Amino acid sequence: AKGMGRNNYQAYVAVPEESHQQRIALEAKLRQAEKNGELRVYYQPQVSAQTEDIVGMEALIRWEHPELGMISPGFFIPLAEETGLIVSMGEWVLRTACRDARRWQQRFGLPLRIGVNLSPLQLMQPNLAELVRSVLEETGLEPSTLDLEVTESINVKSIPNLLETLQTLHDFGCHISIDDFGTGQSSLDYIKRFPADRIKIDQTFVRNIGVDPDDEAIVKATLSMAHNLSRAVIAEGVEIEQHLEFLRAHGCEELQGYLFSRPLAPTAFENMLAERERL
Ligand code: C2E
Ligand code: CA
Ligand code: CA
Ligand code: CA
Repeated sequence: AKGMGRNNYQAYVAVPEESHQQRIALEAKLRQAEKNGELRVYYQPQVSAQTEDIVGMEALIRWEHPELGMISPGFFIPLAEETGLIVSMGEWVLRTACRDARRWQQRFGLPLRIGVNLSPLQLMQPNLAELVRSVLEETGLEPSTLDLEVTESINVKSIPNLLETLQTLHDFGCHISIDDFGTGQSSLDYIKRFPADRIKIDQTFVRNIGVDPDDEAIVKATLSMAHNLSRAVIAEGVEIEQHLEFLRAHGCEELQGYLFSRPLAPTAFENMLAERERL
Protein backbone atom coordinates (compact mmCIF):
# COMPACT_ATOMS: atom_id res chain seq x y z
CA ALA A 1 0.00 0.00 0.00
CA LYS A 2 1.01 3.57 -0.53
CA GLY A 3 2.72 5.15 2.45
CA MET A 4 4.10 1.89 3.77
CA GLY A 5 7.57 2.58 2.48
CA ARG A 6 10.23 3.98 4.75
CA ASN A 7 10.74 7.28 3.03
CA ASN A 8 7.28 8.40 2.05
CA TYR A 9 6.35 10.32 5.15
CA GLN A 10 9.48 12.21 6.05
CA ALA A 11 7.69 15.33 4.94
CA TYR A 12 5.55 15.31 8.10
CA VAL A 13 8.11 14.79 10.77
CA ALA A 14 11.36 16.35 11.73
CA VAL A 15 13.58 14.14 13.82
CA PRO A 16 16.07 16.18 15.83
CA GLU A 17 19.59 16.20 14.41
CA GLU A 18 21.55 13.27 15.77
CA SER A 19 24.34 11.14 14.53
CA HIS A 20 23.39 8.22 12.35
CA GLN A 21 24.78 5.84 15.00
CA GLN A 22 22.65 7.34 17.77
CA ARG A 23 19.57 7.09 15.62
CA ILE A 24 20.15 3.44 14.80
CA ALA A 25 20.70 2.69 18.49
CA LEU A 26 17.54 4.54 19.52
CA GLU A 27 15.54 2.84 16.79
CA ALA A 28 16.66 -0.57 18.06
CA LYS A 29 15.70 0.39 21.64
CA LEU A 30 12.30 1.62 20.46
CA ARG A 31 11.68 -1.65 18.60
CA GLN A 32 12.49 -3.53 21.80
CA ALA A 33 10.33 -1.23 23.93
CA GLU A 34 7.14 -2.66 22.52
CA LYS A 35 8.23 -6.28 22.93
CA ASN A 36 9.60 -5.67 26.44
CA GLY A 37 6.43 -3.99 27.67
CA GLU A 38 8.13 -0.64 28.31
CA LEU A 39 5.31 1.41 26.79
CA ARG A 40 2.64 2.97 29.00
CA VAL A 41 -0.54 4.87 28.39
CA TYR A 42 -1.09 7.86 30.67
CA TYR A 43 -4.41 9.69 30.92
CA GLN A 44 -5.12 13.39 31.27
CA PRO A 45 -8.63 14.44 32.32
CA GLN A 46 -10.78 16.74 30.20
CA VAL A 47 -13.33 18.74 32.18
CA SER A 48 -16.53 20.64 31.53
CA ALA A 49 -15.75 24.37 31.59
CA GLN A 50 -19.04 25.05 33.38
CA THR A 51 -19.00 22.40 36.11
CA GLU A 52 -15.39 21.17 36.08
CA ASP A 53 -16.76 17.61 36.06
CA ILE A 54 -14.55 15.09 34.26
CA VAL A 55 -16.11 14.36 30.88
CA GLY A 56 -13.25 12.42 29.36
CA MET A 57 -9.52 11.88 29.12
CA GLU A 58 -6.79 11.90 26.51
CA ALA A 59 -4.54 8.85 26.14
CA LEU A 60 -0.87 9.90 25.98
CA ILE A 61 1.88 7.39 25.34
CA ARG A 62 4.97 7.13 27.55
CA TRP A 63 8.12 5.05 27.22
CA GLU A 64 9.58 3.83 30.48
CA HIS A 65 13.09 2.75 29.61
CA PRO A 66 14.78 0.62 32.31
CA GLU A 67 17.93 2.80 32.29
CA LEU A 68 16.93 6.05 30.64
CA GLY A 69 13.71 6.47 32.66
CA MET A 70 10.53 8.11 31.34
CA ILE A 71 10.99 9.27 27.76
CA SER A 72 8.69 11.95 26.38
CA PRO A 73 6.65 11.25 23.24
CA GLY A 74 7.92 14.51 21.77
CA PHE A 75 11.23 12.68 21.51
CA PHE A 76 10.28 9.24 20.22
CA ILE A 77 7.01 9.75 18.31
CA PRO A 78 8.81 11.43 15.38
CA LEU A 79 11.19 8.46 15.17
CA ALA A 80 8.32 5.99 15.49
CA GLU A 81 6.56 7.82 12.69
CA GLU A 82 9.60 7.80 10.46
CA THR A 83 10.41 4.13 11.00
CA GLY A 84 6.81 2.97 10.73
CA LEU A 85 6.80 1.68 14.32
CA ILE A 86 3.96 4.10 15.08
CA VAL A 87 1.51 1.81 13.32
CA SER A 88 1.80 -1.04 15.81
CA MET A 89 2.39 1.32 18.75
CA GLY A 90 -0.69 3.33 17.83
CA GLU A 91 -2.76 0.17 17.59
CA TRP A 92 -1.57 -0.85 21.04
CA VAL A 93 -2.46 2.58 22.47
CA LEU A 94 -5.92 2.44 20.87
CA ARG A 95 -6.66 -1.01 22.27
CA THR A 96 -5.28 -0.23 25.74
CA ALA A 97 -7.10 3.10 25.96
CA CYS A 98 -10.45 1.63 24.85
CA ARG A 99 -10.11 -1.21 27.35
CA ASP A 100 -9.25 1.14 30.25
CA ALA A 101 -12.02 3.57 29.28
CA ARG A 102 -14.62 0.81 29.17
CA ARG A 103 -13.56 -0.43 32.60
CA TRP A 104 -13.82 3.06 34.12
CA GLN A 105 -17.15 3.73 32.43
CA GLN A 106 -18.50 0.57 34.02
CA ARG A 107 -16.95 1.08 37.43
CA PHE A 108 -17.97 4.74 37.77
CA GLY A 109 -21.16 4.70 35.70
CA LEU A 110 -19.96 7.70 33.72
CA PRO A 111 -20.09 8.21 29.93
CA LEU A 112 -16.36 9.06 29.97
CA ARG A 113 -14.96 9.87 26.54
CA ILE A 114 -11.54 8.60 25.54
CA GLY A 115 -9.36 10.69 23.22
CA VAL A 116 -6.78 8.79 21.16
CA ASN A 117 -4.21 10.48 18.91
CA LEU A 118 -3.92 9.20 15.35
CA SER A 119 -0.67 9.86 13.53
CA PRO A 120 -0.42 10.62 9.81
CA LEU A 121 1.00 7.18 9.08
CA GLN A 122 -1.90 5.50 10.88
CA LEU A 123 -4.31 7.57 8.80
CA MET A 124 -2.63 6.21 5.67
CA GLN A 125 -3.30 2.58 6.56
CA PRO A 126 -6.12 1.35 4.34
CA ASN A 127 -7.44 -0.87 7.16
CA LEU A 128 -7.66 1.88 9.83
CA ALA A 129 -11.46 2.04 9.90
CA GLU A 130 -11.62 -1.78 10.13
CA LEU A 131 -9.11 -1.76 12.97
CA VAL A 132 -11.07 0.82 14.95
CA ARG A 133 -14.27 -1.10 14.39
CA SER A 134 -12.75 -4.36 15.62
CA VAL A 135 -11.20 -2.71 18.70
CA LEU A 136 -14.60 -1.22 19.58
CA GLU A 137 -16.22 -4.63 19.19
CA GLU A 138 -13.55 -6.42 21.16
CA THR A 139 -13.63 -3.95 24.07
CA GLY A 140 -17.38 -3.28 24.03
CA LEU A 141 -16.75 0.47 24.01
CA GLU A 142 -19.65 2.60 22.79
CA PRO A 143 -18.34 4.26 19.56
CA SER A 144 -19.59 7.71 20.54
CA THR A 145 -17.28 7.64 23.56
CA LEU A 146 -14.21 7.26 21.35
CA ASP A 147 -12.73 10.55 20.20
CA LEU A 148 -10.08 10.28 17.50
CA GLU A 149 -7.68 13.23 17.51
CA VAL A 150 -6.20 14.23 14.17
CA THR A 151 -3.65 17.02 14.16
CA GLU A 152 -4.38 20.03 11.99
CA SER A 153 -0.73 20.18 10.97
CA ILE A 154 -0.95 17.12 8.69
CA ASN A 155 -0.58 17.61 5.00
CA VAL A 156 -4.08 16.59 3.96
CA LYS A 157 -3.31 16.18 0.29
CA SER A 158 -0.54 13.70 1.01
CA ILE A 159 -2.92 11.28 2.76
CA PRO A 160 -5.05 9.53 0.17
CA ASN A 161 -8.75 9.41 1.05
CA LEU A 162 -8.27 11.14 4.41
CA LEU A 163 -11.69 12.78 4.44
CA GLU A 164 -13.35 9.51 3.35
CA THR A 165 -11.59 7.54 6.11
CA LEU A 166 -12.65 10.08 8.72
CA GLN A 167 -16.19 10.07 7.35
CA THR A 168 -16.32 6.26 7.65
CA LEU A 169 -15.15 6.48 11.27
CA HIS A 170 -17.67 9.23 11.92
CA ASP A 171 -20.41 7.08 10.38
CA PHE A 172 -19.58 4.30 12.89
CA GLY A 173 -20.43 6.90 15.54
CA CYS A 174 -16.87 7.77 16.59
CA HIS A 175 -16.10 11.39 17.37
CA ILE A 176 -13.36 13.23 15.49
CA SER A 177 -11.38 16.13 16.93
CA ILE A 178 -9.04 18.48 15.11
CA ASP A 179 -5.98 18.65 17.35
CA ASP A 180 -3.52 21.56 17.65
CA PHE A 181 -6.01 23.86 15.96
CA GLY A 182 -4.49 27.07 14.68
CA THR A 183 -1.03 25.65 14.04
CA GLY A 184 -1.73 24.21 10.59
CA GLN A 185 -2.76 25.75 7.31
CA SER A 186 -6.31 24.47 7.02
CA SER A 187 -8.53 26.68 4.96
CA LEU A 188 -11.99 27.50 6.23
CA ASP A 189 -13.42 25.44 3.40
CA TYR A 190 -11.43 22.47 4.62
CA ILE A 191 -12.74 22.85 8.18
CA LYS A 192 -16.24 22.89 6.75
CA ARG A 193 -15.71 19.59 4.92
CA PHE A 194 -13.75 17.90 7.70
CA PRO A 195 -16.16 15.60 9.58
CA ALA A 196 -15.07 16.85 13.01
CA ASP A 197 -17.19 17.15 16.12
CA ARG A 198 -14.69 19.09 18.13
CA ILE A 199 -11.82 21.51 17.75
CA LYS A 200 -8.90 21.53 20.19
CA ILE A 201 -7.39 25.00 20.53
CA ASP A 202 -3.65 24.61 20.66
CA GLN A 203 -1.82 25.41 23.88
CA THR A 204 0.38 28.01 22.18
CA PHE A 205 -2.70 30.30 22.04
CA VAL A 206 -4.11 29.34 25.45
CA ARG A 207 -0.76 30.05 27.09
CA ASN A 208 -0.92 33.68 25.93
CA ILE A 209 -4.33 34.46 27.38
CA GLY A 210 -3.76 37.50 29.58
CA VAL A 211 -0.41 38.08 27.85
CA ASP A 212 -0.96 38.71 24.16
CA PRO A 213 -4.18 40.36 22.90
CA ASP A 214 -3.57 38.92 19.41
CA ASP A 215 -3.64 35.37 20.76
CA GLU A 216 -6.76 36.21 22.78
CA ALA A 217 -8.37 37.43 19.56
CA ILE A 218 -7.45 34.15 17.83
CA VAL A 219 -8.99 32.15 20.69
CA LYS A 220 -12.20 34.19 20.51
CA ALA A 221 -12.36 33.94 16.71
CA THR A 222 -11.79 30.17 16.86
CA LEU A 223 -14.59 29.77 19.41
CA SER A 224 -16.98 31.83 17.35
CA MET A 225 -16.12 30.08 14.08
CA ALA A 226 -16.38 26.62 15.67
CA HIS A 227 -19.73 27.42 17.26
CA ASN A 228 -21.12 28.86 14.03
CA LEU A 229 -20.16 25.57 12.37
CA SER A 230 -21.72 23.59 15.27
CA ARG A 231 -18.39 22.25 16.50
CA ALA A 232 -17.60 22.04 20.21
CA VAL A 233 -14.30 23.44 21.47
CA ILE A 234 -11.82 22.10 23.97
CA ALA A 235 -8.84 24.18 25.04
CA GLU A 236 -5.56 22.44 25.87
CA GLY A 237 -2.74 23.71 28.04
CA VAL A 238 -5.04 25.37 30.59
CA GLU A 239 -2.59 26.11 33.38
CA ILE A 240 -3.96 28.99 35.44
CA GLU A 241 -7.26 30.35 36.73
CA GLN A 242 -7.07 33.29 34.30
CA HIS A 243 -7.09 30.88 31.31
CA LEU A 244 -10.12 29.10 32.76
CA GLU A 245 -12.04 32.33 33.35
CA PHE A 246 -11.36 33.71 29.88
CA LEU A 247 -12.29 30.46 28.14
CA ARG A 248 -15.41 30.01 30.23
CA ALA A 249 -16.50 33.61 29.61
CA HIS A 250 -16.18 33.06 25.86
CA GLY A 251 -18.17 29.84 25.79
CA CYS A 252 -15.45 27.20 25.46
CA GLU A 253 -17.12 23.89 26.36
CA GLU A 254 -14.23 21.84 27.72
CA LEU A 255 -10.77 22.30 29.20
CA GLN A 256 -7.62 20.21 29.57
CA GLY A 257 -4.41 21.18 31.31
CA TYR A 258 -2.19 21.17 34.36
CA LEU A 259 -4.68 23.41 36.23
CA PHE A 260 -6.82 20.28 36.58
CA SER A 261 -4.27 17.50 36.32
CA ARG A 262 -1.12 16.33 34.62
CA PRO A 263 -1.38 13.10 32.61
CA LEU A 264 -1.62 10.25 35.13
CA ALA A 265 -0.70 6.56 35.20
CA PRO A 266 -3.85 4.38 34.97
CA THR A 267 -3.92 3.57 38.69
CA ALA A 268 -3.54 7.22 39.67
CA PHE A 269 -6.24 8.19 37.18
CA GLU A 270 -8.59 5.57 38.58
CA ASN A 271 -7.86 6.73 42.15
CA MET A 272 -8.70 10.28 41.13
CA LEU A 273 -12.05 9.15 39.70
CA ALA A 274 -12.75 7.22 42.91
CA GLU A 275 -11.83 10.28 44.98
CA ARG A 276 -14.19 12.51 42.97
CA GLU A 277 -16.98 9.97 43.35
CA ARG A 278 -16.67 10.21 47.12
CA LEU A 279 -17.12 14.00 47.10
P1 C2E B 1 -0.81 16.59 22.00
O1 C2E B 1 -1.68 15.58 21.34
O2 C2E B 1 -1.03 18.00 21.63
O3 C2E B 1 -0.97 16.33 23.57
C1 C2E B 1 -0.99 17.35 24.52
C2 C2E B 1 0.35 17.52 25.17
O4 C2E B 1 0.32 18.64 26.04
C3 C2E B 1 0.77 16.34 26.05
O5 C2E B 1 2.18 16.23 25.97
C4 C2E B 1 0.37 16.82 27.44
O6 C2E B 1 1.08 16.19 28.48
C5 C2E B 1 0.72 18.26 27.35
N1 C2E B 1 -0.02 19.10 28.28
C6 C2E B 1 -1.23 18.88 28.81
N2 C2E B 1 -1.63 19.89 29.61
C7 C2E B 1 -0.63 20.80 29.59
C8 C2E B 1 -0.44 22.07 30.23
O7 C2E B 1 -1.28 22.58 30.97
N3 C2E B 1 0.73 22.71 29.96
C9 C2E B 1 1.67 22.20 29.13
N4 C2E B 1 2.79 22.89 28.93
N5 C2E B 1 1.54 21.00 28.51
C10 C2E B 1 0.39 20.30 28.75
P2 C2E B 1 2.87 14.80 25.79
O8 C2E B 1 2.14 13.77 26.58
O9 C2E B 1 4.33 15.02 26.04
O10 C2E B 1 2.65 14.47 24.26
C11 C2E B 1 3.26 15.27 23.26
C12 C2E B 1 2.72 14.91 21.90
O11 C2E B 1 3.10 13.58 21.54
C13 C2E B 1 1.21 14.94 21.82
O12 C2E B 1 0.74 16.27 21.70
C14 C2E B 1 0.99 14.09 20.58
O13 C2E B 1 1.19 14.86 19.43
C15 C2E B 1 2.09 13.06 20.71
N6 C2E B 1 1.53 11.83 21.30
C16 C2E B 1 1.36 11.48 22.59
N7 C2E B 1 0.80 10.25 22.70
C17 C2E B 1 0.59 9.82 21.44
C18 C2E B 1 0.03 8.62 20.86
O14 C2E B 1 -0.44 7.70 21.55
N8 C2E B 1 0.00 8.56 19.50
C19 C2E B 1 0.46 9.57 18.70
N9 C2E B 1 0.39 9.44 17.38
N10 C2E B 1 0.98 10.71 19.20
C20 C2E B 1 1.04 10.83 20.55
CA1 CA C 1 -3.83 15.25 21.16
CA1 CA D 1 -2.88 18.98 20.96
CA1 CA E 1 0.26 20.16 20.78
